[in-house]
Amino acid sequence: MAQKSMTLAYPVGDKLYLNLTNKCPCACIFCIRNNGDSAYGSQPLWLEHEPSLAEITDAIKNADPSKYTEIVFCGYGEPTESIELLCSTADFLKENYPNIPIRLNTNGLSDLINGRPTAYLLKERIDTVSVSLNAATKDEYLRVTRPKFGECSFEEMQKFASECKQYVDKVMFTIVDILPQEQIEMSKKLAEKLGIGLRIREYIEE
Ligand code: SF4
Repeated sequence: MAQKSMTLAYPVGDKLYLNLTNKCPCACIFCIRNNGDSAYGSQPLWLEHEPSLAEITDAIKNADPSKYTEIVFCGYGEPTESIELLCSTADFLKENYPNIPIRLNTNGLSDLINGRPTAYLLKERIDTVSVSLNAATKDEYLRVTRPKFGECSFEEMQKFASECKQYVDKVMFTIVDILPQEQIEMSKKLAEKLGIGLRIREYIEE
């Protein structure tokens, strides 16, 4: 049975990661959550309950953000599942720690999750958006991410990433390095076509 805790903020190297929610509309075959209860040596990231803003801000204050070079919305779920909490937390960070850049790691399905356009909400709140591209073709994307929204997800993810460029300084796609080389090459071409940088990141098994 999964271990639970209220680990809402945890260090990853010189960055502070925030764990806002366990909700996610995908079931990625390589999701870190399939392999254990934590990430990068953290306490369990399965939450006892979905957190309040006060719980998140307390966790941030206790972690002393001034020690970190970046704050990252990531964790054991999709942060845009809690879009209001994400915005309020980013507002708190910008007000209290204005010099620390903020990144959102997302599956890019926020508009489908929230049933409305949401990229504009990131303006002046988020400095970098990192969208999981995961695959270069719709079929492969659906195979590896298994989103509950089905076929439209691949296009909607790309649309969200493209719209983020209007509101956020830096937008990038990521894929994991365990993809077949052919998918990696096709992903590079797709990212280039959309004018978005691509980061090939190491697959973490923990
Ligand atoms: S989008 Fe992220 S949290 Fe959701 S299943 Fe995929 S890897 Fe896991």
